[in-house]
Amino acid sequence: MKIICIGRNYIDHAKELKNPVPKKPLIFMKPPSALLVNNKPLYYPEFTKDLHYEAEIVLKICKNGKHVQKEFASEYFNQIGFGIDFTARDLQAELKKKGHPWEIAKGFDNSAAISEFISIDKVNRNAIEFHLDKNGERVQTGNTKDLIFDFEYIIVYLSRFFKLQMGDLIFTGTPAGVGPVAIGDRLDGYISLIDKQQQLLSCEIK
Ligand code: ZN
Repeated sequence: MKIICIGRNYIDHAKELKNPVPKKPLIFMKPPSALLVNNKPLYYPEFTKDLHYEAEIVLKICKNGKHVQKEFASEYFNQIGFGIDFTARDLQAELKKKGHPWEIAKGFDNSAAISEFISIDKVNRNAIEFHLDKNGERVQTGNTKDLIFDFEYIIVYLSRFFKLQMGDLIFTGTPAGVGPVAIGDRLDGYISLIDKQQQLLSCEIK
């Protein structure tokens, strides 16, 4: 399986990091070894002094596909989860300055925290509300209706370059409010279902 991530997919987040709003999706990947599951803690990596959380809705691919057409795109995912795209912001800033790839800042071990997955039928699929709390305080609120590139567009675009395979995960981008974590912090991720709010993810920084 592969983990594909979309960068700068919410206008307010692109602006907060002083990045231009993209005309095409910005894509990067994390290796399977980046996965952090079952609400396990993240051990603060020794190579960064500025570890950030990025709360994101994650799609799980349920069907293999290449060159997917827009009208069929929604058939390729049927579950969503809550994810945190952990980022070594200091390393990323250095790499960006040099025009180098981001892998060591974004794809390190356990940098892709994911919750359990739920059926997309349980949410309002065109406007999924989600939020992240740090130590009980709300730090990020997002709604997928504000995505620059929506789920269907992402599927169409990605499948031009990469064969989508069952089990692949797509981190769809983070809204504004990204910020640092410290040892001892707890991050809790919530998604609004049609009839209630559900906590899906909990991750302690150790
Ligand atoms: Zn991200």
